[in-house]
Amino acid sequence: MRLLNRSLRRLASFVFALALVAALLFTPAALLQAAEDGEIVPCPPCRGDGVCRARDCKEGKIPCYSECLKPDAPEWTKRQIEGQSEADAEKLWFPYAYKVNGKKETAWFSREQAGELIAIEKGQPVSRGRCPACAGSGRIVCQSCAGSGKCFACLGEGKFVRGRNLLTLTDALQGREMEAVVRSRTAERVTVLRLADLKVFDIPLDKLSAESNELIAQRFPLAP
Ligand SMILES: [Zn+2]
Ligand SMILES: [Zn+2]
Ligand SMILES: [Zn+2]
Repeated sequence: MRLLNRSLRRLASFVFALALVAALLFTPAALLQAAEDGEIVPCPPCRGDGVCRARDCKEGKIPCYSECLKPDAPEWTKRQIEGQSEADAEKLWFPYAYKVNGKKETAWFSREQAGELIAIEKGQPVSRGRCPACAGSGRIVCQSCAGSGKCFACLGEGKFVRGRNLLTLTDALQGREMEAVVRSRTAERVTVLRLADLKVFDIPLDKLSAESNELIAQRFPLAP
């Protein structure tokens, strides 16, 4: 009986040691400290579809700010002019609205002038040639997404994953916590998107706590 007990005890301690080794091998320290790892946090500005939400942004372009005749404006229309040829009746025109002495006037520009910059000279709208800001396309690069058409916060992913790119970082001095999406890092600093206000900025690594530094080192190891 005593012999059986002893071998049972030996077996138990063997199993325990095995479990301990397995735990140490397969559970990285940072996984133990972040219990909610893997949690999906939908991106606030794009609400998950990853598309740029800047006003009027379409595939990374917004309407040109300049006073040019936008080729894709809805105002282009056919025009009824007495005695015009059949071919001319099919042409599109842009009704450019302006004011002379407080009175509303309309100047018509032909489709061939699409993309041209309009300025008022001596009270009359005149063309200054192809718009320099948009090169006549009527659209310019969206500053929010830098032309990518993707949400500036999640860069098109629509979500953040806790533990993968979303980390809780604490500052070294007061231990204040911050939910931060890590964008990139160097040996000295880490570039983050702060989840609270969606601001992107750099943090020197020596301003972060030892735990945060450890977490960053583990999740974002420096390229050799
Ligand atoms: Zn323009
Ligand atoms: Zn955009
Ligand atoms: Zn987004």
